Amino acid sequence: MRLLAILLLAAAIAVAQHIASSAAMRRTVTVTKGTNIAATVSPDRRTIVIDLQGSLWAIPFQGGSARRLTDPLLEPARPDYSPKGDAIAFQAYQGGTFHIWTIKPDGSGLRQITNGHGDDREPRFSPDGSKIAFASDRAFNGSYDIWSFEVATGKLTQWTSAPADEYEPAWSPDGSEIAFVSGIGANGTTIQAVNSTGALRTLCTAAPGAHVDSPAWSPDGKRVAYTQIAAGKSRLMVDGSGIGTDDDVFPFPATWLSGDRILYTGNGKIQATSLETGATSEVPFEASFALNRPAYTRKHFDLDSTASKTVKGIVSPVLSPGGNQIVFESLNQLWLMEIGGRPRPLTSDRYYKEDPAWSPDGKRIAYSSDKSGIENIYILDLSNGAERRITSSTNRAEVGAAWSPDGKKLAFQDQAGATYVLDLDRDQERMVIPAQFAPSRPSWSASGTSISIAALKPYSKRFREGTSQILTANLATRKLTFSEAAPFLSLSTRGEDGPVYSPDGSSVAFVMGSVLWIRPVDRDGIPTGPGHAINQEATDAPTWSGDSKRLLYLSNGKLRLISTDGSKVETVPLDLTWSYEPAAESTLIHAGHLWDGRGAAVRDGVDIVVVNHRIRSIEPHKESLHRAAEANHDRFVDASSLTVIPGLWESHTHEWISGKFYGDRLGRLWLAYGVTELQSQGDPDYRAAETREAFGSGERVGPRFFASGEALDGERVYYNFMRPTYSEAQLQLELSRARALDYDLLKMYVRLPHALQQKAMEFAHSQMGVVAASHYMLPGMAYGMDGMTHVSATSRLGFAYTRTLAGVSYQDVRSLFQASGMFVISTPFQSFPLYAEDPAMVDDVRLATLNTPWDQAGLRAKRDMALGKPAPASETVRPRFGDVAATLEGLRKEEDTVIHLVRAGVLVLAGTDSPLDNVATALHLNLRAQVKFGLEPWQALQTATLLPARAFGVDRDLGTVEPGKLADLVLVAGDPLRNLRDLANVEAVMKSGKLYRISDLVAPFQHLGQTRR
Ligand SMILES: [Zn+2]
Ligand SMILES: [Zn+2]
Repeated sequence: MRLLAILLLAAAIAVAQHIASSAAMRRTVTVTKGTNIAATVSPDRRTIVIDLQGSLWAIPFQGGSARRLTDPLLEPARPDYSPKGDAIAFQAYQGGTFHIWTIKPDGSGLRQITNGHGDDREPRFSPDGSKIAFASDRAFNGSYDIWSFEVATGKLTQWTSAPADEYEPAWSPDGSEIAFVSGIGANGTTIQAVNSTGALRTLCTAAPGAHVDSPAWSPDGKRVAYTQIAAGKSRLMVDGSGIGTDDDVFPFPATWLSGDRILYTGNGKIQATSLETGATSEVPFEASFALNRPAYTRKHFDLDSTASKTVKGIVSPVLSPGGNQIVFESLNQLWLMEIGGRPRPLTSDRYYKEDPAWSPDGKRIAYSSDKSGIENIYILDLSNGAERRITSSTNRAEVGAAWSPDGKKLAFQDQAGATYVLDLDRDQERMVIPAQFAPSRPSWSASGTSISIAALKPYSKRFREGTSQILTANLATRKLTFSEAAPFLSLSTRGEDGPVYSPDGSSVAFVMGSVLWIRPVDRDGIPTGPGHAINQEATDAPTWSGDSKRLLYLSNGKLRLISTDGSKVETVPLDLTWSYEPAAESTLIHAGHLWDGRGAAVRDGVDIVVVNHRIRSIEPHKESLHRAAEANHDRFVDASSLTVIPGLWESHTHEWISGKFYGDRLGRLWLAYGVTELQSQGDPDYRAAETREAFGSGERVGPRFFASGEALDGERVYYNFMRPTYSEAQLQLELSRARALDYDLLKMYVRLPHALQQKAMEFAHSQMGVVAASHYMLPGMAYGMDGMTHVSATSRLGFAYTRTLAGVSYQDVRSLFQASGMFVISTPFQSFPLYAEDPAMVDDVRLATLNTPWDQAGLRAKRDMALGKPAPASETVRPRFGDVAATLEGLRKEEDTVIHLVRAGVLVLAGTDSPLDNVATALHLNLRAQVKFGLEPWQALQTATLLPARAFGVDRDLGTVEPGKLADLVLVAGDPLRNLRDLANVEAVMKSGKLYRISDLVAPFQHLGQTRR
């Protein structure tokens, strides 16, 4: 008996440990097919070197075992054998910029041969081996050009300089010309050749709608092989005709083995084909990947305790001109706090408020609210509480108010990123900066002659990344001027990290490299000299005192005041707490049908008892239970004609990509479509913390929000809410904020080097117990990254090792995911053709009421395009594969991978990148796509219920409907387990024991749904 008890106890401890910890895993995976493999052949035709999953491998020419040549953190790609066979050139990202490197064929002698801040890619040796041509944006004039490097001397020569992007060079066999791809952005439209005098000729032009890549000259210099992708198919081409047998040829240069035989890669294989006979044969290979994924202890998620917690979500704190008061946004309200005192709320309604700004005289606050239905700007007089709405657009969000120094004008912005000035006396507005991609809030120069914002300046059109710079609009001349924060560096975010101008006109403050900088400026706000950092801690949201002697900012969840010389820093105490919203004490839900989420089974006629936030019991319907509930005055929910399922997860959201413009609608829209859990995959950190607290406390209506901060990025950035990270020391500052704000997930982004990604992951695991995820599979999968946030999305390479342009993931990707236990989020961006199967869903009252007018118009445009109607002029969606039918075929190929992985037991999660893709409807289409192409509805539903709960470490509390779990439920009409389309027929949703009916959710915005069409 005692032994049994001990055994049971041991088992219980084992279960508890299993739940509290991720599973350690060590395994070797054998790969025999490759996704986007590149190949180069030794001149003696004995060896093929391939880039397989981000490492170089050597295999015998006839095929066989692959031997790894490079370290995974080097990130080599696009290998090219030297003509003498003594070296292999490639591009590598180690260090945080693409440069050209070489190694000896045995993998020794690693050497970096270019450097600097330009991205150098696609090296090709000249026929005599004396030079290496490559593509680079190192001229910093807005496009890629063709360059060459002289191996003996290191001398660089620029061969082209057109405004188009020129890339993927290839030397002619006599060395007199370099062929290259020319195009705007990533779409190569022609292959051209240039000689040393700069004379150009066009070798081939892509067919309309097609694009071309990777030229390779025939040995006689008379022909060029290249790849052409059109309508979802990629072919190897010579003289305008397709050759070889493959329709998913990888976009890398082929190798002419003779005038007749060409070696290329495609359809997962290395292939050799004959131009003459068309005979094509495979070069088989086998490569081993060692995965070593250590276990870690998971964070304890406090999801329903009644304890009061200190507020971490302090958004937009602004120091008053007098330097003695702070206004800020927390728990869905604006607060005013005398420094040293307690905060008092300035607002009390449940609508959203944002972007408070002090008038220069300190008497008024301008801010935005959607209390009239959409974000408009209001001015609140602090002396008497009187308020005036000063903008009133009904189809534009008006945010980011900034007072002119004389207090007579307000700058503000719309959802497109345009900046306006409103003359308060004359009630006239004009645009002063045209729409920028996700800019910061505006700031006036002290003279009032100019307005500056942080704006993105991309390096080229080929890749979207650039630096976040200061963009200044001179109001008199209308001239726009970009100023780098420092050479090649960025403002930390484009949001609240500056630029902000000192009232005395001497300087601008901003956050760069995670710390606070001050830089001298001229009368018009243009920097006149280098800046200097005035602190050494993680910094956000600086604002000036009126006397320009101090700055207020946020550091790791605390308000800090600093003198401008950095000599004095103090913490401003803030006494503000929150706790979870209480639920009805007891609820009895009588469910006609219950899918509890654990498997295929559906139960009929059950009574679910919910007490406070959790499910107490689930039993077959009994009259006695009903009577007991009635006697106890419990709430009764008659769902006898409905199906109850677990609340849905959106596993990949960026709430604040559009949250400022949605306001209060966003959380309501999610709930109205059955989504009770949102996992942020990167958001402005303080806003994300505020959302977690506002939704959790019920101050704003919305799902349970799992927060993340800005994703950690590299030297080049794109989004406003990714953090450029330049060094390991700076990374530690970023991680200190992540820990202080208690992120629920750590996201790493497109340009963060893998070495820093690994350091960040180790911190997330050991110091925070949270999952770490990025856009990359390997090498992170091998060292323990928890997830990949897409099957494939933006990659710094311009292609992905996880999916080809045609939408296919081969055996390497499938086997590695299956073995690793890593989660992957599906994000099918091309699911819009499915709106044609249910066109009326777009006209639903929930969308008509809760979507923003512009996103609703975009959604209608997608639906119309899916139905074959011409796209409107302001096109909001572009089919990736050319037309709707080809897009649907691309979706089918993507889902083929998703379905394979789900069946193999991989943690596949439904996510959409919303609001980048449409809020709520895209998630439903995601699940419908899984079912359309092969899964059972219950399997698809698990990708939005149980699997995310498991992946994010909260399956003890969420993911299924079981006694003891949190009561996050959806009540739908119909039978979604048979017809998944019924999933959209949400009648009510319960979050943490609180029930919302659709009528409750749409009520605050209902008057708009009726008038707007
Ligand atoms: Zn019942
Ligand atoms: Zn994303």
